[in-house]
Amino acid sequence: ELAQIGVTGLAVMGRNLARNFARHGYTVAVHNRSFAKTESLVADHGDDGTFLPSESMADFVASIERPRKVVVMVKAGGPTDAVIDELIPLLEEGDIVIDAGNAHFPDTRRREERLREHGLHFVGSGVSGGEEGALNGPSIMPGGSAESYVTLGPILEDISAKVDGVPCCTYVGPDGAGHFVKMVHNGIEYADMQLIAEAYDLLKQGLGASAAEIGQIFAEWNTGDLESFLIEITADVLQHVDAETGSAFVDVILDRAEQKGTGRWTVQNGLDLGVPITGIAEATFARALSGSVPQRTAAAGVLRAEAGAWDVTDRDAFVEDVRLALYASKVVAYSQGFDQIAAASEEFGWDIDRGAMARIWRGGCIIRARFLNRITEAYERDADLPLLLADPYFTESVGNGVPAWRRIVSLAALNGVPTPAFSSSLAYYDGVRADRLPAALVQAQRDFFGAHTYQRVDKPGVFHTEWSLDRTETAQ
Ligand code: NDP
Repeated sequence: ELAQIGVTGLAVMGRNLARNFARHGYTVAVHNRSFAKTESLVADHGDDGTFLPSESMADFVASIERPRKVVVMVKAGGPTDAVIDELIPLLEEGDIVIDAGNAHFPDTRRREERLREHGLHFVGSGVSGGEEGALNGPSIMPGGSAESYVTLGPILEDISAKVDGVPCCTYVGPDGAGHFVKMVHNGIEYADMQLIAEAYDLLKQGLGASAAEIGQIFAEWNTGDLESFLIEITADVLQHVDAETGSAFVDVILDRAEQKGTGRWTVQNGLDLGVPITGIAEATFARALSGSVPQRTAAAGVLRAEAGAWDVTDRDAFVEDVRLALYASKVVAYSQGFDQIAAASEEFGWDIDRGAMARIWRGGCIIRARFLNRITEAYERDADLPLLLADPYFTESVGNGVPAWRRIVSLAALNGVPTPAFSSSLAYYDGVRADRLPAALVQAQRDFFGAHTYQRVDKPGVFHTEWSLDRTETAQ
């Protein structure tokens, strides 16, 4: 008997993916650099289905039916290349290597090109949902050749999360497209988490509410437009009590947020493509600020606050304002993320269907949320929508919250509460909708000191003013 699919790399993620395949009736070849993990998978979970364990990579490859489908789920970076090097001489034309780890998309582009030269398919696939998702149904974002998706796609769709019976997996686009989309997913996740954290801080400072009380507010919010996995776990975390001290759990955690780097990749790419992903950038920098210990120590008690005191008279109205500001800021962050996907799709010729991306993020992944349906619908109305915020549904739903958003951002500023993601999202909203931006002045300055030229509103052409001479204008 040959396996229909193989998984190499059996740490938490690979083990759970292998079990997921087995539970769906596939015969799964399994392999890990150190054989002990392979043995323990079969010993502990053999009754999930049929596993074909191999100690050597050669035996593993030989145990898979052709065209082979080999999922690589090892540590991202060098280890992925090492495993690919080992696989290449063992595979045959038409076989498919699936990198389901968190690769950076330029690496995926490089690997895809290399395997293509060997007549092999390389599918860089985003997999989101952590350990739990890998076992019970992740959101899967496979890139690579459309040809490989014909045979691989049905298997991945089978083991993916389902929402209303629809799989949270679809073909994303060539070479690095899948890992790119996963990267932006993680960037949006950073923004979403930061926005939620700012909302929590506003409720804490504005109402003087306890973590548990705020947890209840989030639980309430989770029944409306904001319904999402992240809001749900926030409600849960805030209501959790630390066993050792009896304090709210969140109050005993050190306030330094760490990161594994996908937010940074997203921001770096936003700069490369010139796409203002301010929500994701602020969220990434907010984590950096939280970890800037010497700077925070130097500033604490030294930098003057000159802040007002909170005076919330209508508690319910304040909570509703924070909710509306959170929703509006969140739509901005998503709108920016989808702009980034559009820009990369254009740059690399990926032809990514943004509505389909929102659809496969509805389940399995960390940013799964009810409102992703609204994004899919927006791109169904107009596949080339230049700005998600300008879709009629979002124009209306965000527009209704604008007065609240302005109140909250100004109150935060007046009372000295840092809300980088809320504030920058509102600034983006006002910037993108402005009739005229002060960028005109920036262009004039550039022409003044660097003869960088400018265009005029009243006639076509490119111009330069002789600033240091007689200030006459010349057409270039
Ligand atoms: P790790 O990232 O901890 O990697 C451990 C696995 O890699 C082990 O199987 C290990 O083998 C193998 N490995 C490490 N170095 C080599 C090497 N040089 N040659 C061969 N094998 C090697 O495992 P995880 O399960 O946590 O993650 C796997 C991938 O999934 C990573 O890319 C990670 O970023 C990603 N990930 C994704 C998540 C998601 O939600 N999508 C969540 C967590 C991770 P050995 O047992 O022999 O040491």
